[in-house]
Amino acid sequence: MSQPAEQSVQIQYRKLPSVDAVLGNPEVRFLVAEHGLSQVTDTVRGLMASVRKEIANGGTAPQPEQWPFLLHQRIARETEPELRTVINATGVVIHTNLGRAPLCDAARLAMDSVTAGYSNLEYDLSIGERGSRYDHAKRLLCELTGAEDAIVLNNCAAAIFLALSALCNGREVVVSRGQLVEIGGGFRIPDVLRQSGGQLVEVGTTNRTHPSDFANAISDRTAALMRIHASNFRQIGFTATPALTDLVTIAQSYSRSNMDDNSPAANDNRNRILVIDDLGSGTLIDTTKYGLSPEPMVQESIKAGADLVAFSGDKLLGGPQAGMVVGRKACIARLRTHPLTRALRVDKMTLAALEATLRIYAAGRAEECIPVWQMIGASKDDLSATADRWQRRLLQMGVATEIWPGESTIGGGSLPGETLPTTLVALSSSTFGSQVDGAAARLREGQSPVICRIQRDCLVFDPRTVLSSQEDQLLQAIKSC
Ligand SMILES: *Cc1c(COP(=O)(O)O)cnc(C)c1O
Repeated sequence: MSQPAEQSVQIQYRKLPSVDAVLGNPEVRFLVAEHGLSQVTDTVRGLMASVRKEIANGGTAPQPEQWPFLLHQRIARETEPELRTVINATGVVIHTNLGRAPLCDAARLAMDSVTAGYSNLEYDLSIGERGSRYDHAKRLLCELTGAEDAIVLNNCAAAIFLALSALCNGREVVVSRGQLVEIGGGFRIPDVLRQSGGQLVEVGTTNRTHPSDFANAISDRTAALMRIHASNFRQIGFTATPALTDLVTIAQSYSRSNMDDNSPAANDNRNRILVIDDLGSGTLIDTTKYGLSPEPMVQESIKAGADLVAFSGDKLLGGPQAGMVVGRKACIARLRTHPLTRALRVDKMTLAALEATLRIYAAGRAEECIPVWQMIGASKDDLSATADRWQRRLLQMGVATEIWPGESTIGGGSLPGETLPTTLVALSSSTFGSQVDGAAARLREGQSPVICRIQRDCLVFDPRTVLSSQEDQLLQAIKSC
């Protein structure tokens, strides 16, 4: 470093206040009151170190009056919650990495009111004694699905694990080879079955399994026939899978007692071969209305005679993370009393949000009020109007974009390969003037993180999954990027 440069660096260093001087500033004392002395002191030290680095690189020391502001900015960044809201511009409606289903207003209000104070989580108000947390959503679930009984657990994975542990331990569970799936996050059906103490009996082939394959696999050790929804992949071509009704017919004809359902022996599950249906997402609303393939409906599985049907709370149901098991009373009763249930139990926030969500279904207002269904149901015209508005507003901010036809997906292991037509707003590298990956990273790391898609070297934004309340933030973020 040349002599004069070295001198000017020393001059700048001398302008730096001491840590104590910064902490003594009246405006900084407000920050200390809010964040605590030790945190603010650490932040001042961190700030000081970055300023010294800047000076070494030829920068100048901040003016004395700038310190409170710089400190404020740095603390705001440091105390930002780790878990925070992001803008989902990917067009993937149920994005597992982005928290799956956004909740409807009623669900959020219910959570707020139940968590602000005490609740009757495990208290029966009518008798003034201990009640069960599992009773809360039960009536609504039965009403909506036609099932005799229901239980809510932490998620669908927990629901399956519990059902297999409670009802199939030490005995055989027959599954088609085409349905031995890995769902993601390492949840593999064969492994879960092994953990639960059940013994997997694989039948059929990868692409084709027939009812007779199930029938031929039945022995006196068979506990259940299980169907698993191939949630995240699709088989096309020369394929065959037995219908759920086929499994029910087989299970009934091979059950060790053919007594009527009300006899005590019939209610003892050990006397019957169960049909367990893992729907994964499942839905209460017919997806074909939206031009999508039929996603299996919970009420249809019950109607088809499945003994237990498991489905997720935060996939197409559009509620909180939870796992429902609905079905036969005698089976659910055994889940309720199993020792694992406590470990897989659902908390009051979830139950509040779930009950509110189910109530909206019961009122027939799901498609109108639940974000997942609002997004799936968004019309082509609405989406294209939103895209046009974004383009216009961005242009006013000096950002040129293109409008592309495109496709949104459902995600969350429902309806693999299915798409909904949408209108995209695309930003080309000529606009942001850098590599597309760098621009995507800047969007992710901004004040309101935006997650978008990259297509043909452009940043692409899908209006379908952006909440209307987030529009301003999104456009600002695009502008600053
Ligand atoms: C998603 C899924 C699960 C797991 O559901 P979570 O609620 O995420 O635990 C289980 N089975 C199938 C078939 C699924 O698609």
